[in-house]
Amino acid sequence: MFIPFNNRLLMMLLLVFIAFSSVASGSNVHPAWLKEALVKAKELDRKDPYLAFEFLEKVKVSRFEQMSDFDKATVLNKLALYKVYLGDFKAAGQFNSDAKRLFPDTETDTGINILLVEGSLLDIAGNTEQSLAMYQQAMEQARLEENNQLLAESYTAIALAHSNSYNDVEAIQYYQQAYTIISSLNDELEMAYLKTNLANTYANLHDYDKAIALQNEAIDYFASNELHYDEMQAQMSLSFSHIAQKEHDKATICYLKMLKLSQFVGEKRFVYFAHIGLANVKIKQEQFEQAAEQMALANQFFSFIQDPYGQAHHYLLEAALATHNQQIEQALDRIERVEGLITELDKGKNINLFVRLSDQKAKVMALLGDYESAFYEKVASEALLADYYSQEREDARSKYKVMFDTEQTELENKVLQQSRLIDQLALEKGKKEHELQRLIIVLFVLIFIMLTVYVYRQIRHSKRLNRLANTDSLTQLANRRYTFHFAKNVFKESQTTEHPLSIVIFDIDHFKGINDRYGHPFGDEVLKGVSDAAQSGLREPDLLGRIGGEEFMVVLKHTELAQAIEIAQRIRQLIEQRTFELNKQVVTVTASFGVSSFNPLVDDFESLFQHADEALYRAKNEGRNRVVSKID
Ligand code: GH3
Ligand code: MG
Ligand code: MG
Repeated sequence: MFIPFNNRLLMMLLLVFIAFSSVASGSNVHPAWLKEALVKAKELDRKDPYLAFEFLEKVKVSRFEQMSDFDKATVLNKLALYKVYLGDFKAAGQFNSDAKRLFPDTETDTGINILLVEGSLLDIAGNTEQSLAMYQQAMEQARLEENNQLLAESYTAIALAHSNSYNDVEAIQYYQQAYTIISSLNDELEMAYLKTNLANTYANLHDYDKAIALQNEAIDYFASNELHYDEMQAQMSLSFSHIAQKEHDKATICYLKMLKLSQFVGEKRFVYFAHIGLANVKIKQEQFEQAAEQMALANQFFSFIQDPYGQAHHYLLEAALATHNQQIEQALDRIERVEGLITELDKGKNINLFVRLSDQKAKVMALLGDYESAFYEKVASEALLADYYSQEREDARSKYKVMFDTEQTELENKVLQQSRLIDQLALEKGKKEHELQRLIIVLFVLIFIMLTVYVYRQIRHSKRLNRLANTDSLTQLANRRYTFHFAKNVFKESQTTEHPLSIVIFDIDHFKGINDRYGHPFGDEVLKGVSDAAQSGLREPDLLGRIGGEEFMVVLKHTELAQAIEIAQRIRQLIEQRTFELNKQVVTVTASFGVSSFNPLVDDFESLFQHADEALYRAKNEGRNRVVSKID
C-alpha cells in the first residue's frame, strides 16, 4: 500500500510519541528528593525503626500531593515495614494494603517489598502457609528482576517463616541460600542480620555453640555500628542460648547490656525484658531476693507486654517466687492466670510453658501436702518434657546434622571440581597453544611447498623458454645461436685444458634444386630427415646444430681430427643412404663436409670455424658428397 509522504511523516511522529509516552508512564523512578528521603529513613531505621517511621511519616504528609502512585506505594510500604519492626502489626497491615491498592504491580522493587511485608504479617498472624506463598512469589519475582538484595531478603523471610513453624531444617536451607548471596553482595549489615536469625535457628536445633558464636558475631557488628535496637534483640536471643547451656552468669551479662541499651534508647519493652530475664536467671540460681527485686522492676513495665506467651511467662515466674516464699494463695492465683492464658496457645509450639506450668503446679501441690497430685503433675510434666525432646526437634537435629555433613561434602566436591576445572582449562589452553603451533608449522610447510612448486615451475618454465630460444623449430636441433654459444665455450675449455676438439660443418648439396623440383614442404621434410640421419651417427656428448638454411655444424668434444673425419664420413653415408619419397618417387640427397680441429695455433673459435668452412668450400668445389679437412 502506498502511503503518501505527509501521512508517513504523521505516522512516524505518532510512533515516536507512543514510544516516548510509554517510556514516560512506565518509568517507575522516584524523584531525587524521595530517593534521598528513603535512604535517610533506612539509615534512621538502623538506629531505631521508630525514628525512621516518624521521619518518613512526615515526608508522606508534607509531600503527598507531589507523589505518583508508585511513590506513595513505596513510602506506605516502608511505613508498614517500620511498623512491623515496632510490633504494631495492625497499623503495618493498613499501610501495606494501602500500598498494594495504589500499586498492585509486583514487577518492581516496591511490588516485591509489598509482598514481603504482607508475607511477614501473615506469618506473625500464624498463617504460615499463606505467608510462605507470598514470600515464594516475592522470591520468584526478585529472581526474575535479578535483584539479589531482594532475593536474599526473600530467602531470609522464607527461612524465618519455616523457623517460626519449627521447620528448622528447611529454615537452614534457605538461610544458606541467603548467606551465599549476601556474602557475594558484601553487605555487612545484611550479613549481621542473617547471622542473628541463623543463630536463633541453631538455638532451636539445640546447637547452642553455633548459636552463641553467630549471635556474638552479629552483636559485634551491631555494637560497633551503634545499632542499639538490633543489639538488644540479639542480646536477648543470646541470653536464651546461655540459659539453655546453664551459663547463668553470661546470660546475666546479656541482660545487663540489654538494660543499659534499652534505657539509653527509651525502649520500655526491652527494659521489661531485661528485668524479667534477670529475675528468671536469679530464680534459676536460687537467688530469690535478687529475683524478687528484678520482678518488682519488671512489674513497672508489665503493661507493655500484650502477648499471652509473655504474660504467661511473667506469671509463671511470679508463681515460682510465691511458691518459694510459701505464698500459696498468690502462687495458685498466678497458676490460674497462666492456665487461662495458655488455652490460646498452641501446645506443640509452646511446650516449655506447659512443662513449666505442670512443674509449678506439682511444687504447689507438694506444699499443700497433696503428694499424690504432685506426683502425677510431675509425671505429666516429665512426659511432656520427654515428648518435647524426643519429637520433631530431635529428628530435625539429626536430619540437620546429616544434611549439614552432606552439604559440607558437596561443597568440598564443588571446590575440588572447580580446581579440576581450572586444571582442565590450563591443560586445554596448553593444548590449544600446541595446536596453534602445529597449525603455524603446517602453514609454513604449506607455504614452503607452494613456494617450492612455484619456483620449480618457474625454473621449468624458464627452461622451456630457454629450450625454445635455443632450439630450431623445424628440426628440433640446437639453433645457430646456441650451437655457436656452445661451441665457443667448448673451445675456451680446450684452450685451458688442451683437450682435443673438432668441428664438422656440412651443407646439403644442390638443395635449391630439391625445393624447386619437389616444393618447399618436401624440402622441409628432407631437412628433418637429414637432421635425423646425422643425429643417429653421433655420440651423446656431441652437439649437432642447424646453423643455416641447409647448413649444419657438429661440435665433437675431446675428438682428434682423424676421428672427426671418420664421424663426418659416417654421417655423410647415413645421409646418402636416407631415402625420401614423394608421389612414389624416391629421392636421395647428399651433403658436403668440412672438418677442422683445435690446436694451440688457433686463436679463437671464429678461426676454427673459418677453417672448417674453407674445407667445406673445397669439398663443394671438388665435386660434393665428400669430406674435406683443414690441416695446417
Ligand atoms: P650447393 O650444392 O652449392 O650448396 O647448392 P644449393 O642449391 O644447396 O645452395 P644454395 O645456397 O644456392 O641454395 C640453398 C637453398 O636452400 C635456398 C633455399 O631455398 C633453400 N632453403 C634454405 N632454407 C630452407 C628451408 O628451411 N626449407 C626449404 N625447403 N628450403 C630452404
Ligand atoms: Mg648452403
Ligand atoms: Mg647447399
